[in-house]
Amino acid sequence: MNEMCDILPVKGRFAPSPSGRMHLGNLFSFLLAWLSVRHGGGSLVLRIEDLDPERCKPEFARQLMDDLRWLGLTWDEGGEDPAYWQSNRGRLYQAAFDVLAAKGLTYPCFCTRHQRLIEAPHSHEVSPSCPCAGLSPEQAAARALERSPSYRVRVPGSTICFTDGLQGGYSQDLAIDCGDFPIRRSDGAWAYQLAVVVDDAAMGITQVVRGRDLLSSTPRQLWLYEVLGWKPPAFYHVPLLLAPDGRRLAKRDGDLDMGALRQRYAPEELLGILAQMAGQQRTAQPISAADLARSFDWSKVPKEDITVNPVLLSNSGRKGS
Ligand code: GLU
Repeated sequence: MNEMCDILPVKGRFAPSPSGRMHLGNLFSFLLAWLSVRHGGGSLVLRIEDLDPERCKPEFARQLMDDLRWLGLTWDEGGEDPAYWQSNRGRLYQAAFDVLAAKGLTYPCFCTRHQRLIEAPHSHEVSPSCPCAGLSPEQAAARALERSPSYRVRVPGSTICFTDGLQGGYSQDLAIDCGDFPIRRSDGAWAYQLAVVVDDAAMGITQVVRGRDLLSSTPRQLWLYEVLGWKPPAFYHVPLLLAPDGRRLAKRDGDLDMGALRQRYAPEELLGILAQMAGQQRTAQPISAADLARSFDWSKVPKEDITVNPVLLSNSGRKGS
């Protein structure tokens, strides 16, 4: 995607939202991000994506760091450092917002029914066309006396194409497949799509490895990079883990959260299970993170979502030492 990425050491990141205990699916994405960076001798940032004050709790972030350390998944920047917590980075998001506003790309939206799009931070829904896009500045100012607006960004009718390192070619017509999307909530909270671009650019991230559920967010983010004049990272969207009944693992599936997994497995056992799912070894034999990094190979990672072995979900999994 960009030639410098091939020459400079990779800089990756973990960007967890601390809205609950990490589960096996989160861990799978983090492990792949970590392996890719460490295999290439690169460095890693841990950024806490605590944008939503109602859902995110500092104790979840602390627990998450403890879980990553337990597994040996180290980072080089961020973590406890408050400068890497998105709740402290509003000044940077405001600066980017101001650039977009100066280009005439933002508008206030007063529709309460559109708020849910921004409340679900990684929403896949196409933003419905909004009558607020056509309000004059005077009309908008008059409406703002009654209620605070959220802000949306006006997307062009153009197609964004990119090559994902794992999933291959992907394209989206922004106006049709996405629509004008929210960048700030009416309560002042910043939206994921803006914050992630600002932070990945500000932190010099050259490689983003994350769950496949965010593939459809990437064209929006690439367009923001373009408008803001920043160089985008390379993207790798990794498979999601599914329960045997086909549902996606979520934080509410407590049976696979790190609390339960730490009771049942030693770190190397858990890494062995994940390494098998990631195509890095034929069996789930225990292995350390460092050993896995040495032989890591993207070409062995499956593209499709992975159904978790039911034994992992039952109580019959091995008890760790
Ligand atoms: N904060 C998101 C999550 O926890 C990840 C966002 C990203 O990697 O861009 O799922």
